[in-house]
Amino acid sequence: MSAETLSVGDLLFEVQRSSRRKTLGLTVDRSGELKLYAPEATPREQLEKWAKSRQLWVYQKLAIKEASRPIPRPAGYMSGDAVFYLGRSYRVRFVTDQEGAVHCRTGWLELRLSDKTDAEARIREWFQATGGHWIKERVKLLSDRYGLVPSTVEILDLGNRWGSCSAAGRLNFNWRLLQFPIRLIDYVITHELVHLVEPHHNDDYWRRLEGLMPDYADRKAKLLETTREYDRV
Ligand SMILES: [Zn+2]
Repeated sequence: MSAETLSVGDLLFEVQRSSRRKTLGLTVDRSGELKLYAPEATPREQLEKWAKSRQLWVYQKLAIKEASRPIPRPAGYMSGDAVFYLGRSYRVRFVTDQEGAVHCRTGWLELRLSDKTDAEARIREWFQATGGHWIKERVKLLSDRYGLVPSTVEILDLGNRWGSCSAAGRLNFNWRLLQFPIRLIDYVITHELVHLVEPHHNDDYWRRLEGLMPDYADRKAKLLETTREYDRV
């Protein structure tokens, strides 16, 4: 299993060397993962220089991918629309008045009728506030269990990334994660916690992750699969 990576600016390439290759090449796959293909003995400096020369092309590719993601439905929510929170489905219902913009009760996500045109924003705010609190608690629980302690935890809009870990030990999570079942959220949290001790996806990284979460590969595969199904909020 190859695990060589190369960072150029904020881009991270997975390097795949092969004795059969004669030239350098790179691909941007569906999920935005970057792969750099190189002849076996290419020095790192040469890879870096070449990747730098392709940086603009990569950004363009990533931008096209972002813009061409399917828009699953027209903007706005209707009564009866499904919203997923922690893997459970809730139906949207508009009520004439209530305290607070969003109420979550058995099977229903209730919003004020007067907020109907801004329902998307209200739901998102609710996800970030209520769910953000939930994620922080969950990080604390797993962090205590594993003895891996981040410096800060933030819930943000990370575009199509689920989480990130900075060199200073700051963990960021995408608020959209909150749609998923808890076991998949746990995978993303654990994935980022392991980055506190292993910044790169090398063999040591995957070994540590497997030590903490033996069925991580299954959760990871499920996350990729679920990402396509749940791409609604
Ligand atoms: Zn990672």
